[in-house]
Amino acid sequence: MGENAITMNKKNIQFLLIWMLVTACTSNAQMTVTPIIAPSQISAPTDTPIPTVAATPIPTDFIPPAELITSGDWLRPNVALTFDVCQDPQYPAGYDSALVDVLTRYDIPATFFLGGDWMRTHPEETKALASNPKFELDNHSWSHPDFTQLSDEEIAQQIEMTEELLLQITGRHSRFFRPPFGFYNDLTLKSVSQHGLYTVTWDSISGDPDPNFDAATIFAEVKRTVRNGSIVIMHANGRGWHTAEALPAIIEYLQARGYTLVTVSQLLEIK
Ligand SMILES: [Zn+2]
Repeated sequence: MGENAITMNKKNIQFLLIWMLVTACTSNAQMTVTPIIAPSQISAPTDTPIPTVAATPIPTDFIPPAELITSGDWLRPNVALTFDVCQDPQYPAGYDSALVDVLTRYDIPATFFLGGDWMRTHPEETKALASNPKFELDNHSWSHPDFTQLSDEEIAQQIEMTEELLLQITGRHSRFFRPPFGFYNDLTLKSVSQHGLYTVTWDSISGDPDPNFDAATIFAEVKRTVRNGSIVIMHANGRGWHTAEALPAIIEYLQARGYTLVTVSQLLEIK
């Protein structure tokens, strides 16, 4: 009975976490609770000409292992703060400039997983992220679909269109791919690796897409789940409701505990 209760509880928690990630990049209308404080300084999509993007195969002679990476070395006190910046094209998201300001003020390396459709509607914000040499920009698919439901061709299109636009706007390519919602299968891993990218999710969940999570709760969740080598997931698309507010405490706590904040490349020692 006790064990069953614990198993059920774990399942419920897993369901809750998946629900939070699903809502992070989709409609606010799905949420029944209105946040008390809206994220500060969320910009609307930039009013600039929208580039046309075709799927272009990425020239690569490097094929990384077709494996999922959830963290770095557990023996080294490094932590990577990562921020998903995604949107479902039907539900445009924003840009949490207050959060980026905190990272810049603390001079902290960070990794942003950018959605292609988000970059399409936010080219100026994409450039702003690219202008900080401590920020790493990576691929988070084009339109945020569930990759377990896609064909090989559809996966290739999602990855290649996003890479193409990232290159157009910033002149850079990604090293890492984060599957939307963290959903993946063998085909996802194989296709991502054939594009020369590593598949990276997380092992420390801030829970920031939950409007009921205030800054103290986000901070407490990071404190509870972070350890050596952790990859922490947060959101910078305005769907992390109190992320910017929680971030100074998170950064100061991690640094006081002796963690070095690094990019995902640095965490995984991938040049
Ligand atoms: Zn996302």
